[in-house]
Amino acid sequence: MPPKVFVSRIIPDAGLDLVKAACDADIWPETMPPAYEVLTERVRGVEGILCNLNDRIDGALMDAAGPQLKVISQMAVGYDNIDVRAAHERGIPVGNTPGVLTDATADLAFALLLASARRIVESVEYIRAGQWRTWEPKALLGGDLNGATLGLIGLGRIGQAVARRASGFDMRVIAYSPRGKPEEAAKQGVTLVSLEQLLRESDYVSIHVPLNESTRGMIGREALAMMKPSAILINTARGPIVDQKALFEAVRDGVIGGAGLDVTDPEPIPLDDPILTLPNITVVPHIGSASQRTRDKMARMAAENLLAGVEGQPLPNQVRV
Ligand code: NAD
Repeated sequence: MPPKVFVSRIIPDAGLDLVKAACDADIWPETMPPAYEVLTERVRGVEGILCNLNDRIDGALMDAAGPQLKVISQMAVGYDNIDVRAAHERGIPVGNTPGVLTDATADLAFALLLASARRIVESVEYIRAGQWRTWEPKALLGGDLNGATLGLIGLGRIGQAVARRASGFDMRVIAYSPRGKPEEAAKQGVTLVSLEQLLRESDYVSIHVPLNESTRGMIGREALAMMKPSAILINTARGPIVDQKALFEAVRDGVIGGAGLDVTDPEPIPLDDPILTLPNITVVPHIGSASQRTRDKMARMAAENLLAGVEGQPLPNQVRV
């Protein structure tokens, strides 16, 4: 009998075909994710769950699934939606998809950085509003990257990939990475500093830490007040790392220069969120890993974790508790 599994979304065929070939798969067919209560019902009796960041996977859900549950496979590198400790206590390994989405996410962070610095979205709106009447010496002036300081909060896989891109733009790169080794960072052209020094010196601040209890609300009113009035904040990590209300007020009041966000709190961002009214905040809908090739690789990796788990094998990529 093939193992029963639940797949919480239609993922790319590169992964889905592997799952369908080896499992009795219940695949959620809709665009909108299952509500928590529905998810709890659908996972009853399964041996594996392939999920994503929309699905809350807590101890109660694992218990509802039953003692035969052998693996939780997340199609993402971040896993803040999963109670990994609860899974560990129940002997259920949790898989994720690190590495394959590093470059795509770093590209998106850099796209937001360039778009914010050079006011790309505002410029498009300017044309659409019929304001482009001539070449203007003082219209739509932005910031330079060359010679500017980029501050990276977190210097893991994605932080380092952003640092590599910044070196091509002749930026000075500093990072806050308490577990990082200064000599290793120096080899990549990055100087490790305290969070306060990073906030005070950076022209651009880009966030690359996971969401956990040490990073939730890390960038709030106080942190924003330390930044330069011209500074731009980029967040491609997770929305709740930034206090969004404090960010809105800081940009509105000129405490900082602007922001580029791939992630918000909550997601999707409500259409009446005042952040969407500011021309110098660019928001995109969590598309960090959204390249065709990257999503194929993520789907395959998530499928491989799932299949290893239902077979009782070690997962190719297991989250460590
Ligand atoms: P990673 O584990 O390689 O790097 C994270 C780094 O943050 C590590 O070096 C870790 O030591 C450091 N860190 C943890 N807590 C910290 C703290 N309090 N202060 C400073 N540093 C701290 O992870 P990664 O692959 O680089 O991914 C980073 C995060 O990016 C993920 O957890 C995920 O939430 C997010 N992400 C978003 C997208 C997207 O679509 N926007 C895509 C991929 C990843």
